Amino acid sequence: MINEIEHILVIEDEESIQMALVDDLKLEGYEVSGANDGLEGLSAAKERRYNLIILDIMLPSMDGFEVCKQLRRAGVTTPILILTAKTQEIDKILGLELGADDYVTKPFSPRELLARVKAILRRVKQTQQGVDRYRFGDVEVDFEKHEVKKSGQPIYLTALEFSLLHFLIMQKHRVVSRDALLDTVWGDEVSVYPRTVDTHIAHLRKKIEDDAANPKYIIGVRSVGYTFTD
Ligand code: CA
Repeated sequence: MINEIEHILVIEDEESIQMALVDDLKLEGYEVSGANDGLEGLSAAKERRYNLIILDIMLPSMDGFEVCKQLRRAGVTTPILILTAKTQEIDKILGLELGADDYVTKPFSPRELLARVKAILRRVKQTQQGVDRYRFGDVEVDFEKHEVKKSGQPIYLTALEFSLLHFLIMQKHRVVSRDALLDTVWGDEVSVYPRTVDTHIAHLRKKIEDDAANPKYIIGVRSVGYTFTD
């Protein structure tokens, strides 16, 4: 397989942060483009296909939340890594409606940011490999096209949710521990709390289960983790 050069769009109005990000990412071998405000970022992200978008929340002309929402509404499925200065916004960032894949809190170290970027890009690649379709109940998953339908209606999963679902399906009927999910889906270079797994599983259930409070497919195993069953 040819190793494609991955193209990252950085939407950040603070010049020093944008320049540092662009330089760091270029050093890692990525192609990088920058946008200085929300509207510019939105049109850049719609114009061509990027492998990843790094999106600041506090932006002139349109904030990052709105950019994210509008991109998802326009059917842009590019993974989005949010930059945020406010820890209290994290619930909103991880919220269902927004459709962001991960976040980094400012100030961040270049190492932490690069780890997140690599983890997201690796997840996307993993779900693109092993071309597969899978059906359970009224849910259809197309791993190649990165599409999920429920009762014939398309539903949007973040790259992370997609990766979680993929891994659980591959491990069908086995109990998968939170640690195993953290290692496989998030990657061991990223520090994530085990409860983050539960948050994302909860979001995933809301999308694919008929009744997220009484899940049929993604079953919790007390104090251990989860198992997928159909
Ligand atoms: Ca900003």
